[in-house]
Amino acid sequence: QPPPVQTASDAPASAALLARASEVIPGGVNSPVRAFRAVGGTPRFMASGSGPWLTDADGKRYVDLICSWGPMILGHAHPDVLAAVTEAAAKGFSFGTPSENEVRLAEEIVARVEPVEQVRLVNSGTEATMSAIRLARGFTGRDVVVKFAGCYHGHVDALLASAGSGVATFALPDSAGVPRSSAGETIVLPYNDLPALEAAFAERGHEIAAVITEAAAGNMGVVPPAPGFTEGLLRITKAHGALLVSDEVMTGFRCSPSGFYGLEGPYAAGAPDLFTFGKVMGGGFPTAAFGGRADVMALLAPQGPVYQAGTLSGNPVASAAGLATLQGCTPAVYERLDVVSHAIADAVAAELSAASVPHTIQWAGSMFSVFFRDGAVSSYDDAKDQDTSAFRRFFHSMLSQGVHLPPSAFESWFVSASHDDEAVDHVIAALPAAARAAA
Ligand code: PLP
Repeated sequence: QPPPVQTASDAPASAALLARASEVIPGGVNSPVRAFRAVGGTPRFMASGSGPWLTDADGKRYVDLICSWGPMILGHAHPDVLAAVTEAAAKGFSFGTPSENEVRLAEEIVARVEPVEQVRLVNSGTEATMSAIRLARGFTGRDVVVKFAGCYHGHVDALLASAGSGVATFALPDSAGVPRSSAGETIVLPYNDLPALEAAFAERGHEIAAVITEAAAGNMGVVPPAPGFTEGLLRITKAHGALLVSDEVMTGFRCSPSGFYGLEGPYAAGAPDLFTFGKVMGGGFPTAAFGGRADVMALLAPQGPVYQAGTLSGNPVASAAGLATLQGCTPAVYERLDVVSHAIADAVAAELSAASVPHTIQWAGSMFSVFFRDGAVSSYDDAKDQDTSAFRRFFHSMLSQGVHLPPSAFESWFVSASHDDEAVDHVIAALPAAARAAA
């Protein structure tokens, strides 16, 4: 018998907090996927995190496989990051003037990702992609943007069409409130489909400012680019004078020290013109960036005509957290991410196979996700063709056993270098029952 969806009585303190939150925050959450709408039950309100563990408001512990949706690559409250944040905060929280920490963080990013000559720091991945698109439009003098179905680039008007992540979780085609004019400047194409891109450029190439893509898709579950896809994007955009924006908000500094670019690049057809980063580079604080070719970045105010700004951009405390996190990402960290993610994924595959549950596991570096279906997933249509109710049963069984997965079948699972053998063993021990529940 599959376990019932967890109810309020399983997490009374979280249920009470959700009731209070729902009075003053729409849906009780500040980002939709947190609400557990896709899986049902009571979202856990976390009281603290340490290494690979989260502790909820009822005092129950979970091995964390969300890791704040990517940022916590070193684990929660890592001592080195905590020390850097404490030191920076003691010197003041925000100045509204330039300060050294933001320079050091920018230098660290530029040193790691070879095609990135300059970056500008912003506060979220959404701001990064929004600004990159504006810059590409300013540089090319064109308005149209191409995105791929199932790729999520934040809640930017022009980029919400057929987005993955929460938009996929809630089966929304688009978002209400996006002007037709804005959506009308967006062409949505299937991911991993170069002929579709060739056709779009043949028809409207002179209008297209940029193609934006997740370097490896992670927001419809993990769907890496097919061999030659990124090369094709580069070849086609360059032939038509459009820019390629590689969104590495999720993959950046996680898939390798230089992100997914470090795994797949350099490319024969050149480099993406602009990149966007977030998550890991903020170490759990609100910092993100966009950057790339110096001649394109030169168009930004105050030098150029493309306006972009932020009261808290380059915040000294957030920059210190990001810098300490990037500096903490040693080769040993990437080795540990590989070991942990493969140990968990191998055990998931074995238990789902033993329970005859259809599944496919896909990878981008140490990022992986489990699709509850047979057969490779190379597009959003493929990703949607899975048994989300099996996922829901699997999710709740894991949750009841103290393992917190992302509460959606359309998300990557994230591990940290702090996931020690005890945490991995705890996850593995929970899998047989979860696989039986999914069957
Ligand atoms: N781009 C990608 C690839 C993402 O995964 C996300 C968030 O998940 C974003 C952009 C938006 O970032 P943020 O949530 O910081 O606005």
